[in-house]
Amino acid sequence: MADRNKLRAGILIVSDTATKDPSTDRTIPLLKELFRSVSSQWDIAETLIVPDNVLEIQRAVRLWTDGEVVMNLVVTSGGTGFALKDQTPEALSFLIHKHAPGLVHGMLSSSLAITPFAMMSRPVAGVRNKTIILSVPGSPKGAKENLEAVLKLLPHACIQAQGEDSRSLHAGGIEKLEKDAGVRLPETKGSSEQPSHCHHHGHHHHGHHGPRAHTNPKDRPTSNDPSAGPTRRARSSPYPMLSVPDALALVAEHTPPPVKTIRAVDPSILGHVLASDIQSNEPVPAFRASIVDGYAVRFPKGQPKFSTGTYPVALVSHAAKGQGRVLNEGEIARITTGAPLPSGADAVVMVEDTAVAAVTDDGKEEKDVEILTDEIKKGENVREVGSDVSQGSTILKSGEQISMVGGEFGLLVSVGAKEVEVYRKPIVGVMSTGDEIIDFDEARQLELGEVRDTNRPILLTSVKANGFEAVDLGIVSDKIHALEENLRLALRQCDVLITTGGVSMGELDLLKPTIERSLGGTIHFGRVNMKPGKPTTFATVTVKGDDGERVRKVIFSLPGNPASAVVAFNLFVLPSLHHASGIHPLGLPRVNVRLDEEVKMDPTRPEYCRGIVFAESDGLLRAVSTGGQRSSKIGSFKGANAFLCLPAGSGVLKKGDNVEALLLGRILNTSNP
Ligand code: AMP
Ligand code: MG
Repeated sequence: MADRNKLRAGILIVSDTATKDPSTDRTIPLLKELFRSVSSQWDIAETLIVPDNVLEIQRAVRLWTDGEVVMNLVVTSGGTGFALKDQTPEALSFLIHKHAPGLVHGMLSSSLAITPFAMMSRPVAGVRNKTIILSVPGSPKGAKENLEAVLKLLPHACIQAQGEDSRSLHAGGIEKLEKDAGVRLPETKGSSEQPSHCHHHGHHHHGHHGPRAHTNPKDRPTSNDPSAGPTRRARSSPYPMLSVPDALALVAEHTPPPVKTIRAVDPSILGHVLASDIQSNEPVPAFRASIVDGYAVRFPKGQPKFSTGTYPVALVSHAAKGQGRVLNEGEIARITTGAPLPSGADAVVMVEDTAVAAVTDDGKEEKDVEILTDEIKKGENVREVGSDVSQGSTILKSGEQISMVGGEFGLLVSVGAKEVEVYRKPIVGVMSTGDEIIDFDEARQLELGEVRDTNRPILLTSVKANGFEAVDLGIVSDKIHALEENLRLALRQCDVLITTGGVSMGELDLLKPTIERSLGGTIHFGRVNMKPGKPTTFATVTVKGDDGERVRKVIFSLPGNPASAVVAFNLFVLPSLHHASGIHPLGLPRVNVRLDEEVKMDPTRPEYCRGIVFAESDGLLRAVSTGGQRSSKIGSFKGANAFLCLPAGSGVLKKGDNVEALLLGRILNTSNP
């Protein structure tokens, strides 16, 4: 049983090695012992080991900070160094609501007193919801030393973070706090100071760290503060670099779920996904109809057979409405394909099994016709009422897409369905940003530095080609107010915004700061390990809808380089649009192809190489690259019908190697059509 008077702590080990073999971990027992020796207040409620993976670290921490029963303290160990895989601080920074540089300072200064190598650790500390989060190094010794440096002060911080009244907590002044925590330093002038929440930071040369380090929210290290200008902008991206699958998982997680709506059955319904099962209100066919051109016959009463012989042609039934006369025994009726059977008829003999026996006097009409077969059975060549679709049967299921091929649309119109429940398709706005961008149809010559808008036209057509409604949001300049105002306007009209440009590391790259700081949005990722498209950014913003309810809108801020923008659209935006409209599978179709030429790999980033996939006469799919893949070169898309997914690696992939391809267009039949 958990003791409610104790402070609950979780220890999270971040280590690829310990994930594979938990017995290699020596940190958990060491930290547990440290907690026990310092105070009986602590209850080490949980321990967990995860690999060096941003999302797994975040998932584990969230479990302890966002759930029903939260921890007072989460200590992570590992992943704080400078190695490529070290990403714990980046993972945690994203989760921390209030940063606690004082705790960081405390840990660093105490370990610096032991070794200058302490500078090689990148600890973070802060508060998420009601939980203190603290990172310590991965080595058992470093972990212990760092935690030891601040551990005595943590109960106070935990109690405050939990929401305790700070006035009563601070009632005895700083002196009492220090005494309670057992951290009184000789040179502290604590007694003369007010028990206040002081907001200034920097270095307190006179000593006390922990309890007084209340952060100012402005210090949260997110995007650049654009007002800081070029000299003070962040010089490396604060956003962790996610793998494409991890980024896609976040897109799926944060794209709003599909919304149901009623739509009329007309061609504009193509591409929608049904949100409920559809029953037919009518039978198909609605009457007994002939399957062939021939003669309807009526079997003599009580007879299983219709005999050969010559019969008078008493009626004619064409495929038209009306009619409905009775066929008597001993007569036959000429009938065309799809025409209703006269009542009383049992079967239809096809015209090939008959011969004309006598014609009318004017020679224009059949009088008698000979039936040449006696093998006709009752019901033969007749489509009974409801034999294609019976009334009340389910013709389509919820989740099925009304495809462009037409089968589903055909079923709906054939039974006279008027309205159906489908998932609404998102409305997608497309905006280009950049002071250098001018409209593509501007007639004049470009001036120095000007660039024709390539992204907006191709993204608008891409959105439409995929069956979504696109809104042209124009070109917006790199001015924070212009950008904010235009994004706000756009969010009112659209469910999904696609912007291009302004997501790199320049001081005029304003998208991330504007989304975060001005619109109050959340950036779920700001960097993806891919080529091209690395700065691809995905965010959501919650806004008030027309009727006052809160709705979540999605923003994709794609790189400015045209080839990057198109790759990022197909890789990230398309699956999100599919998700929002209930379409499965998400994104472009995948196939395996065999390389028909050697291609060079990028040493660090998986590459989405524009390529041509073709089927040779042996039926196998082969692929070649379209050549020059520079991210500014939209020409690399010319003729392309696929992205070849090349893994990162040194050297080349050889002719004959297999890779995955994402199909953008129709597969060709040979490499040279
Ligand atoms: P940025 O991400 O704003 O730094 O832009 C990266 C590069 O893409 C720059 O060379 C821009 O001029 C170029 N670029 C940005 N937007 C567009 C656009 N809409 N059409 C063509 N090129 C663009
Ligand atoms: Mg720009």
